[in-house]
Amino acid sequence: MQQEVECESGGGPVGGVGRLLCLVLICIASQPAAAALLAGRDGPRDRPSKAAFEDPFLPPGYLDFDAANYHVFSLSIRGTRVVVAIHRSLDGVTQIGGRPTPTREEFAGHMFKVFEVYSQIFSSFPLDRVVIKVQALADPQRFLGASRMGFVLSAADVDLAGGTGPPHWYTIPMYREAPAHELFHIWNGGVIQLDPTGRTDSPGPFFEESWFVEGLTGYYDPRSRQAAGYPEDYARGMQVARDNYFRRVGTEFDLPFAGLAARASTGCCPPPASDFQSMFVWKGALVGYLLDWMLLETGKTLDDLMRYMYEQLGLQNRRFRTRDVIQALRQVSGRDFQDFFDRYVVGNERLPVEGLEFLEHHPSSTRASIATDGSRYRAGQGLTVSLAAGNPGGARGGGAHLGAQPADGRTTLYFTGRGFVPTMTPLARAFPLASGAVLGPVPVFSFALPASIPAGAYTFLLTLTDPGNPGAIVASASVPITFQP
Ligand SMILES: [Zn+2]
Repeated sequence: MQQEVECESGGGPVGGVGRLLCLVLICIASQPAAAALLAGRDGPRDRPSKAAFEDPFLPPGYLDFDAANYHVFSLSIRGTRVVVAIHRSLDGVTQIGGRPTPTREEFAGHMFKVFEVYSQIFSSFPLDRVVIKVQALADPQRFLGASRMGFVLSAADVDLAGGTGPPHWYTIPMYREAPAHELFHIWNGGVIQLDPTGRTDSPGPFFEESWFVEGLTGYYDPRSRQAAGYPEDYARGMQVARDNYFRRVGTEFDLPFAGLAARASTGCCPPPASDFQSMFVWKGALVGYLLDWMLLETGKTLDDLMRYMYEQLGLQNRRFRTRDVIQALRQVSGRDFQDFFDRYVVGNERLPVEGLEFLEHHPSSTRASIATDGSRYRAGQGLTVSLAAGNPGGARGGGAHLGAQPADGRTTLYFTGRGFVPTMTPLARAFPLASGAVLGPVPVFSFALPASIPAGAYTFLLTLTDPGNPGAIVASASVPITFQP
């Protein structure tokens, strides 16, 4: 089960909202009694029935509604009927607690768009029906989390934040955010589930792996909103995560995920457990961003990881631990992420996201590749790097950065034209990436290898960013080379 409420956080004016909103998420790992029903399922041809898939943790009738009291919108998306039911007592309600409400059509249309975005990422959803119910403001039934079968938006949710939050999810712009988050949970948390069996590291329901369930959901919900027609939502959501994370660096919240899990689960003492739970989402969303960035260097994206976890674990009724995610990353990308996990997921090193603006999520369809004119070099030899990029999306600029990462994977040096420096540095040349264009391969860098580079195995990393915004990765690629003594 997940419980989720909204809160206000400090921040400058954003759009017409006047202040930043943040999500405080209180999520409780759902229990998987019904997960066994997923075993052996492999896609739309063999779906369990709704009745076979009732979540035993939802009260009977929790997702039920009747057409006499609800407006019902539904759309079949990739074989799943997405049903949005909005209570008729909201007819004529134009604001709740001083905030404007969306129209029914806006709300339902947004849910359909977001479901479509997610179903493209995962390729499928195992149930034939999902329900999103907006109940009457006077209904005392609470939000009980997103299950595989759907979720309910209730008026009581804001009580969880001590009454400090916006009045309801069914207001502008909150209707775009929290429901998009919960909709991702029907896959991540609903089908892909962490393994709490035999744990002694936390009393539960939060465990180290909650970074995957909560954090990656916190990363995908702003991404989905960008894809669903609200481009500013990605930057806003990620900047909130970044700001909240750095505000807590050096405080009692500055813990590895396992440490956060213990405090998020017990609520032993002030500050409240919910504050540690929030940190899961903010920190985990930033870890998701970093993983996505690293996967791009292998020609993959976080979408490939999510699909792998869904198909190879979730749909197979296999629950995951942290080691399974590392294994999945290796399967997907061919790269070993153990060091990354040791530092940022199991360990608590500072996440290298300070200063990033996250202006736009990279379209994962833009691909780049690089090649060199050899694989083994000696100091003083000339080395030429060639770039190829395909941009099926809209026209854009691409600022190019070239990094060299030694085999230990811990540091990256960036080429400046005169040598290598430790900070990401744009090369002078910027590439116009026209819509639908395929660029290259063209030689883009030729230089004599400086004698200052130690011998060893390196990975050359080419990153295309939006010019002036290193936080917005358009595409990246890598190639191995060896410097000989
Ligand atoms: Zn959540």
